[in-house]
Amino acid sequence: MALKVCKFGGTSMADGNVMKAVKKIIEADPARRFVVVSAPGKRFSGDIKVTDLLYSCYDEIQKTGTCKEAFKAIRSRFESIAKELNMSIDVNADLDETQRRMDEENSKDFCASRGEYLSAKVMSKVLGAKFIDSEDVVFFNEYGVMDDKKTYKAIADAVADCDKAVFPGFYGKDIEGKIKTFSRGGSDITGAIVARAVNASEYENWTDVSGFLACDPRIVENPKRISTLSYKELRELSYMGANVLHTESVFPVRKANIPIIIKNTFRPEDEGTAILPVSQYKPEGNIVTGIAGKKNFTVILIEKNHMNNEVGFIRKVLSVLEKEGINIEHIPSGIDTMSVVVESSEIQGFKLERVIEEIKNDAEPDVIRVMENVALIATVGHGMSSSIGTSARLFKAMAEANINAKLIDQGSSELNIIVGVKNEDCERCIAAIYHEFFD
Ligand code: ADP
Ligand code: ASP
Ligand code: MG
Repeated sequence: MALKVCKFGGTSMADGNVMKAVKKIIEADPARRFVVVSAPGKRFSGDIKVTDLLYSCYDEIQKTGTCKEAFKAIRSRFESIAKELNMSIDVNADLDETQRRMDEENSKDFCASRGEYLSAKVMSKVLGAKFIDSEDVVFFNEYGVMDDKKTYKAIADAVADCDKAVFPGFYGKDIEGKIKTFSRGGSDITGAIVARAVNASEYENWTDVSGFLACDPRIVENPKRISTLSYKELRELSYMGANVLHTESVFPVRKANIPIIIKNTFRPEDEGTAILPVSQYKPEGNIVTGIAGKKNFTVILIEKNHMNNEVGFIRKVLSVLEKEGINIEHIPSGIDTMSVVVESSEIQGFKLERVIEEIKNDAEPDVIRVMENVALIATVGHGMSSSIGTSARLFKAMAEANINAKLIDQGSSELNIIVGVKNEDCERCIAAIYHEFFD
């Protein structure tokens, strides 16, 4: 029998009227039994997400010991929601308790998690469904990673006796019993975890766009919708900045082959995007499936004659980064050259200088240079491996837009081509590649 887990994002929780639309969507299909919600997001451009207001509450607690002032904005958001719902839902007791506990816990993650907690409380009343607190069913282990087995079992047990339930997204509990959140946008992960735990036939992710688009709609107006995407393509695109879905949300569902369906809360009749295992995925005949980009990388370029003959050279370079605990994104290499690409936030200022010195000492390169403010742009698609001339078209499009590729990396999966450009060229480059392959 069909069983759907539905995650509703921030804009779907933004006010009481949208929440009524959400109720309609859920009630239109009896398979939609388990619901995961985000904190209320922006209602209009310039509005502030509840999660960001909660981080301000935490800052106030650090300064004054209480979040009395900053909490006023949270209270007023939820009071308006209750009013708009017009269902005699009382939020005051939960708000009072939340404010008190935020002061008492004095924890950033605890504060941040309360947006999801409160919106799930409200949604459970709107739907007449059971409220299941994620702190009782989502567990992190001693490394801060989700404890899969314990989590899946707890969720399955918690839903065993109910027809419909609402879970707050974004957080769980660590081994010390403290609230811990996923990274930003993490309610998508909670949705995927619940889908996996209840063995859902579909994971519906309801947002404010009609599916996964071939590129960010804030860069190109009205980009083509992707009707089906493989888990692999999703992983590549979301990792590289297509943040319509959190990049980690693919893992729980992928193992159980549960399709992810992206749908638009504001246009529920639109078809959306289905994300499927490669085996079920039917290519649409496009060479490129999508393009995404991310800014602020640092590239360390290293040259040494006969590098490829020197046993252990690459290891020496990488050991320096390992010792400093720096994550590496890419390692494009040539015969006598290699580059190491890392996120700039991992290696700022003094740390960068130290890494350069250590590489000079340990690996003795002929030349070592640093390039900062680099954006990486991934062009992704299964069709790319079987079509000749894709990279030629990509570089022609960049040349015509007068954009210089600082770095090129073609993944060994033949699923993507990554180019590095100056930060300020990022949007123009995505647009140029999009127009080349989609117009
Ligand atoms: P939610 O609050 O529902 O989780 P998000 O803001 O996290 O929503 O994600 C939806 C937004 O992602 C869209 O409004 C859109 O601006 C942005 N986005 C970026 N890249 C893409 C893409 N390739 N396809 C669709 N949306 C994208
Ligand atoms: N509310 C959290 C955030 O703003 C999590 C989410 O929306 O998924 O990042
Ligand atoms: Mg999101």
